Amino acid sequence: MASVSKFAGLGLVDPLLRALAEVGYDAPTPIQSQAVPEVLKGRDLLAAAQTGTGKTAGFVLPILQLLASRPAAKPGNGRPRCLVLTPTRELAAQVHASVVTYGRYMDLTSTVIFGGVNINPQTKALRGRIDIVVATPGRLLDHVGQKNVDLSGVEVLVLDEADRMLDMGFIHDIRRILKLLPARRQNLLFSATFSEDIRRLSDGILTNPVSVEVAARNTASELVHQSVHLVETHQKRDLLSHLIRTHRWEQVLVFTRTKHGANRLAEKLSSDGIPAAAIHGNKSQAARTKALDQFKNRRIGVLVATDIAARGLDIDQLPQVVNFELPNVPEDYVHRIGRTGRAGSVGAALSLVDGEEMRLLTGIERLIRRPIDRIQTEGFEAPKPSRAGVSAPGGSARPGRPGPGSAPRGARAGGPRSGGPGNRRPPQGNSRGGPSRGSSRAR
Ligand code: AMP
Repeated sequence: MASVSKFAGLGLVDPLLRALAEVGYDAPTPIQSQAVPEVLKGRDLLAAAQTGTGKTAGFVLPILQLLASRPAAKPGNGRPRCLVLTPTRELAAQVHASVVTYGRYMDLTSTVIFGGVNINPQTKALRGRIDIVVATPGRLLDHVGQKNVDLSGVEVLVLDEADRMLDMGFIHDIRRILKLLPARRQNLLFSATFSEDIRRLSDGILTNPVSVEVAARNTASELVHQSVHLVETHQKRDLLSHLIRTHRWEQVLVFTRTKHGANRLAEKLSSDGIPAAAIHGNKSQAARTKALDQFKNRRIGVLVATDIAARGLDIDQLPQVVNFELPNVPEDYVHRIGRTGRAGSVGAALSLVDGEEMRLLTGIERLIRRPIDRIQTEGFEAPKPSRAGVSAPGGSARPGRPGPGSAPRGARAGGPRSGGPGNRRPPQGNSRGGPSRGSSRAR
């Protein structure tokens, strides 16, 4: 177990170290080094960390240890001691998988609860002893309504990807759930961004929290080769097929802005002989799981996803991300490219940008505080500067001039690498105000 001795330094006990040795982690990630000792001390935590930083183990490991080290105050069936709320089913499933993996040598029980699937097996699971529940808010409230779950014994609450939960309209559900929890409990809040709404939420929930922050991966880190290909809108689909073929990309996650666009693109790639599937909110859970499994097993090489569907997808060492369209919000760009270059592996993120999107590109380069390298491919020319307003914010664009061929993987941007979203400090909330009433339901 020598390789996990660095985890022992964080104060983690043997059963956890054994599980970590088996999954093969060598050393804690920065968020784990910062968060684990504080959570073990029982402190509330406000963490600025994105998916891909190892944040899940950062809270799952110490929570398992805390729960195993003390008896439940009032043990009972369907009375979880820890509640983890997540915005999406995929993230819930992923967090729960971590609970199972890291907790395999501990005598703790857990279950995962999310909508879009039959409620009965979940109800059945809740009838027994359940220490940890990982849930999306809407379905959890369904179980509360049916009296399947009693949240009055929750000792630790985790809000994972809290910013996404607010974006997805879960605030009222969260407030309703908060009212069902005992006042005395430990609270951990994870968020990639810190808007006013998040500050208000964390101020109302956290008591004298420790703030931890890790630099937004992929902006400050060197792990992702980012590049931009300027191209006319109508050429994007052909260009993507061309790039996938010439670079022999085997596992590509492609982002589109709309569900419809995701479907169309997956169909077009498939008809070009490149097996692809779309994954988005209109698809059933079964269809999403199937597409993801096929992608992971390499039966399809391309997964086309919308931003929300892609949240929480746990795909290790994804080598290539493509932004078929830039997101409207610059922060989403950072989330998207966070799908590659995970946990120490190098990845590449290519954005196909038309004239209309130059404004969005400028916003992204401002956010990440660096220019993104431009690449070109013969036959796929950049939009005309006059029409498109093409500029070279990073000074590295050469619009309209055929380049030496496209080389997304090799291209690296120069310029300063520090800063970006990781510079925003999380707030130091320390009041415990009662959450306000909410009425509407989002799912
Ligand atoms: P997360 O940010 O929690 O979604 O984790 C991102 C990925 O990093 C997951 O696939 C984890 O299995 C992996 N991971 C978490 N902690 C470590 C670690 N200490 N060393 C290597 N990989 C890790």
